[in-house]
Amino acid sequence: MKFNTKTIHGGQEHDKAYGAVMPPIYQTSTYAQSTPGGHKGYEYSRTHNPTRNALENALASIEGGNYGLAFGSGLAAIDAVMKLLKPGDEVISTNDLYGGSFRLFTKIFQNFGIKFHFVEMDSVSAVAALVNENTKLIWVETPTNPMMNIIDIVAVSELAKKYNLMLAVDNTFATPYLQQPLALGADIVMHSATKYLGGHSDVVMGALVVKDSEIADQLYFIQNASGAVCGPMDSFLVLRGIKTLHVRMQRHCENGRVIAEYLASHPSVEKVYWPGFESHPNHEVAKKQMTDFGGMISFVPKGAKYEDAIRIVERLKVFTLAESLGGVESLAGHPASMTHASIPKEIREQSGVVDALIRLSVGIEDSDDLIEDLRQAIEG
Ligand SMILES: *Cc1c(COP(=O)(O)O)cnc(C)c1O
Repeated sequence: MKFNTKTIHGGQEHDKAYGAVMPPIYQTSTYAQSTPGGHKGYEYSRTHNPTRNALENALASIEGGNYGLAFGSGLAAIDAVMKLLKPGDEVISTNDLYGGSFRLFTKIFQNFGIKFHFVEMDSVSAVAALVNENTKLIWVETPTNPMMNIIDIVAVSELAKKYNLMLAVDNTFATPYLQQPLALGADIVMHSATKYLGGHSDVVMGALVVKDSEIADQLYFIQNASGAVCGPMDSFLVLRGIKTLHVRMQRHCENGRVIAEYLASHPSVEKVYWPGFESHPNHEVAKKQMTDFGGMISFVPKGAKYEDAIRIVERLKVFTLAESLGGVESLAGHPASMTHASIPKEIREQSGVVDALIRLSVGIEDSDDLIEDLRQAIEG
């Protein structure tokens, strides 16, 4: 089955009771038993829920995996992966990681005796240099936020296989429409389904997809034992979101290209970060592992300071100034005062997150309106 069919039908069957085309929202915590243990496969909704299961099957299908797991948030999904580890284990991760993942690793799991290394993953030899007998997991995020760096998943997966390490990829920015980490050698794919999978900025959710039944069994055990599951209503919303993922992503990519090119041609814009440009340092890797380049763009207005960038994002009318990304509506953010405010200025600027950097999540509106909005905001 091709991807554009999988988003609609993958792992799905019509409701057995009445033939409902969409799975009903089974808003129930428990299930009647005829005799102790005499049930129809469902006992308690932390463990299993039919609406969540329908979503989990769809997730497995679109990522080319065998097992899907849905959680109450992206971070809850990452939390479950980290619980595969034991004190003394080590993790190698990218240095410009999503801030919430960095916080979970360093402020929570480090206290439980897990050691984290953060490295620029453009260089696989830099990753290899950190591997020792305690290394268990490599955590990749690509494209990165907000600098749009691209990490070569195949190269990192070859290293992981050589040293028998697990490889997990946060696929939130790319989505399986653009990039399929399991096919590129990853063991675990993670999503903040809050973003493109949900796609309508109306739900917070996380997801994991794996191929291997042993890893799946451990993760299902953790999902049930720790209990960070999502509810049936949210499962329904994300399942509904996934059905239009391919058409939304196609438009996100088209609009992303138009906006990136507009910004690059604007005399008052100094720098544009978007992996579709041939001048992007990882463009060749992006071309190899992604089918297109997405709708996430960062840019720096020429000669702008902190206050100038804030004034630009305040002037936007079609773009909404807000955290998050991946919804149908265009959003703008100012990392230095929003998502990356907790990172000291010197450290932030080392990875390119300067005071004037503005991040866009380009939505699926008419690109003429988006360009006009950016023009009036930049030109003031
Ligand atoms: C938002 C996000 C997360 C965290 O997901 P939540 O659903 O907010 O918990 C993780 N990784 C990336 C890349 C994200 O954008």
